[in-house]
Amino acid sequence: ASDSFLVNRATFGLAMTSALIEGGEHAPVVRRMIARLGEPAIRQGVGIAMKIMGEQFVLGRDIGEALKRARTGDNAAFRYSFDMLGEAARTQADADRYFAAYRDAIVAVGGAAQADRDLFARDSVSVKLSALHSRYEVLHAARAVPALIARVVELANVARDQGIGLTIDAEESERLEMSLDIIDGVARDPALAGWNGLGMAVQAYQRRAPAVIAWADALAAATGRRLTVRLVKGAYWDSEIKRAQERGLADYPVFTRKTATDVSYLACARAMLAAPNLYPAFATHNALSVATILEWAGGARDFEFQRLHGMGVGLYEKLMAERGIAVRVYAPVGGHRDLLAYLVRRLLENGANTSFVHQIADRRIGDDELLADPVARIEAVGLSANPGIAMPSDIFGAARRNSRGLDLSDAATLQALRAAMTTTWNARQRAAPLIGGTPRDGASRAVVDPADTRRVVGDGVEATVADVADAIARAQAAQPAWNARPVAERAACLMRAADALEADRDALMALAIREAGKTVADALAEVREAVDFCRYYAQQASAQFAPLVLPGPTGERNELQLAGRGVFACISPWNFPLAIFTGQVAAALAAGNAVIAKPAPQTPLIAARAVRVLLDAGVPGDVLQFVPGGPDVGQALVADARVAGVAFTGSTATARRIARTLLDDETRPIVPLIAETGGLNAMFVDSTALPEQVVADVIVSAFQSAGQRCSALRLLCLQDEIAGRVLEMLKGAMAELVIGDPARFDSDLGPVIDTDARARLLAHIDAHRERIVAQCTLTDAHAHGHFVPPTVIRLERIEDLRREVFGPVLHVATFRSGELESAVARVNASGYGLTMGLHSRNVEAMQRVCALAKAGNLYVNRSMIGAVVGSQPFGGEGLSGTGPKAGGPHYLLRFATERTLSVDTTSAGGNASLLSLED
Ligand code: FAD
Repeated sequence: ASDSFLVNRATFGLAMTSALIEGGEHAPVVRRMIARLGEPAIRQGVGIAMKIMGEQFVLGRDIGEALKRARTGDNAAFRYSFDMLGEAARTQADADRYFAAYRDAIVAVGGAAQADRDLFARDSVSVKLSALHSRYEVLHAARAVPALIARVVELANVARDQGIGLTIDAEESERLEMSLDIIDGVARDPALAGWNGLGMAVQAYQRRAPAVIAWADALAAATGRRLTVRLVKGAYWDSEIKRAQERGLADYPVFTRKTATDVSYLACARAMLAAPNLYPAFATHNALSVATILEWAGGARDFEFQRLHGMGVGLYEKLMAERGIAVRVYAPVGGHRDLLAYLVRRLLENGANTSFVHQIADRRIGDDELLADPVARIEAVGLSANPGIAMPSDIFGAARRNSRGLDLSDAATLQALRAAMTTTWNARQRAAPLIGGTPRDGASRAVVDPADTRRVVGDGVEATVADVADAIARAQAAQPAWNARPVAERAACLMRAADALEADRDALMALAIREAGKTVADALAEVREAVDFCRYYAQQASAQFAPLVLPGPTGERNELQLAGRGVFACISPWNFPLAIFTGQVAAALAAGNAVIAKPAPQTPLIAARAVRVLLDAGVPGDVLQFVPGGPDVGQALVADARVAGVAFTGSTATARRIARTLLDDETRPIVPLIAETGGLNAMFVDSTALPEQVVADVIVSAFQSAGQRCSALRLLCLQDEIAGRVLEMLKGAMAELVIGDPARFDSDLGPVIDTDARARLLAHIDAHRERIVAQCTLTDAHAHGHFVPPTVIRLERIEDLRREVFGPVLHVATFRSGELESAVARVNASGYGLTMGLHSRNVEAMQRVCALAKAGNLYVNRSMIGAVVGSQPFGGEGLSGTGPKAGGPHYLLRFATERTLSVDTTSAGGNASLLSLED
């Protein structure tokens, strides 16, 4: 119901499309209409609707068209800042393309002479740093920042020669400090000394905004220029909130109440009006923000307002006429293909309940409410945070704290982390069997760093078969008392262990990096997952292990109780040497079992440290025994008839061997085996997917952790139509990967675990060398570690991948339009069912794949790794595992045995409670 005919048409077109896709009450009408008009007519109608929407928010498909429109009719009254639409660069080629587009735009804008105006009044160009470098990321700052300074200096020189300004947009809060370093570098470039054309955007929703304004003023003073500052509220509020929750940050970098952002905006505006070295540009569509600033400015006019193309016209046309203010339009330029993301942001902005432009159109909101003083509003709620948004630590509710993350975008944090990790690295670590809480000595073996095998991380003493027998005997004796403890006590031990793991984070990360070759980000995730497992199972045990009273006839009491099964063997892999190790142990303990824990032979050091933490947290030494060692230790453990259950994560072949061993002894009860095994994890990408997003998620899913995650992507299935483009982009993105010592903050992936793994992977790659479509190169720097170059291998058919290739090797196959379902069925036919991915913007495709997929974890339009405890319970089916899922509500039950208690309460002679019932 807009006043604009065009907007109504466009809305109609979109509504019709969604009715078609999602069904709903109008679907039959739309289908009848299609039958009458024919699908081509509808397609054309929707196409026109999209074009109208595009024109509403985008000034032109290219800079020539945009400049022409900017000079036409009422548009000519405004100043412009042109921006090139597009996603962030993922490859060097993308970055080069955007750079050329910006440079051409600067030249075109400069050429459209406005020599009669002063520099601040001329049209300008806005740039996004993320478009100019493929690795504009905090952990890559050492490379990205100098490169970006050089690129922006180059653009700035062109802008200076052309006599126009250049403004740097503000992006995610994580990038703030990097962007300031870049702006600082550009401002101090000698060739640009005294140039007044440089500008930057500052986001008022960031709590650091006032400090950034002061910083900008000081920089302008120090470099002898007037710096344009565009003050915005900020475009990424929703994603900032989500990221902070995912990262487990101590607090949000942005305000959580809209009113707080309004107040921050005004505070920054006031500071800017008073800053002698800044040229203020107030970008907002909020009439109250505008009115307040105008009031404060008095008669001064040495500043401008800014609006987005397609928004705020009514507000500013009137003010320009009545108040003589200058207004600039931020004008996106780009074709259809680059439109979507920008369009969606604008639609969200216009549609958000808290947004001024939405509220002003809402007749139910009176002027008093719309124009209420934001300062009074925020004072009325005592300056408090938004109660509707839980702190990152509290997103799982009162019963369980989210694991604490680390702000890896903060230089001081990184420095402190490195110092703490170095202390651990400098001390030679040791792992030995812990039987009854006492270390056993024996011959030790050096544990070396897989990234550089000349570096010894520590020494591992392996348990003997006799140690295993001793451990089981002690555990069996101790288990009844542990099981008899109130579940709250067992849970409390795990909660204490979680806190202690968190406190020991830096040392644990140091070990994950040096012993298992994890990158810094992976090592952090490893510790967080271990912490989450402890808290989650503690919470689950408390909730599930209370006796359940069951209904029945009067005169009897029926109760279902859960109890530990006895001694559990927990056998874990090297790829999550802390998280899976701790998860299995914590679950078994929570359920009332005693545990014999055997870590992978490659990673005893970090496991030993985790055991220490659990013992210190109050788990008795006889209840948790530690038996590091190889297959013989594992075999002795599972073959022992006193072991009442096995939790195992590793290969399908070993799981099968364990299952057989458990049945060897005819007199032994049939005990549970909880096995997590491998997968041939496939991702399907249809032609509606966004290639940039696909490639980003493929890189993470296939190559993060050097592909050594059970969930990692092994088989990428691309629809023919987009296969070429996606592969080209993937190749470019792979060229940007940094492979190296994982202790370095900028390493994207480190080595594989050992010599055998490397040899197996290289042999596989070699066997397919004719079919390699992309491969990273290794250098001499990798000579002393178990490095394997990330490789993409093209397959003829989906069926050609028959076994799990556990490393940074991705296989690609294609499918034809209309064959998505059969492609899924063909992957299902492999018998594995761990993870699966889908990239599609077609809701129906998603529903079809969901219905068909035989996979424990299906990921849609995101990466396929990084399952979060309690949010994404993890585990496969078929050849990929027995279930239940780790980190899910059914896991503990498998570690427990059920006992029903029935008491005849009338056995003493009568039913007292029935007889005393009131009439
Ligand atoms: P209002 O309705 O008054 O404010 C809406 C804004 O409030 C939201 O966008 C959000 O920032 C904030 N908000 C909403 N809910 C909450 C909440 N619960 N808690 C805290 N804050 C909340 N954005 C960038 O990030 N970088 C840029 O470089 C950039 N350049 C721009 C250039 C121009 C010329 C313009 C006009 C906008 C630009 N933007 C940029 C987008 C801008 O951030 C949004 O258009 C702007 O936030 C809308 O604010 P408003 O004052 O018009 O509307």
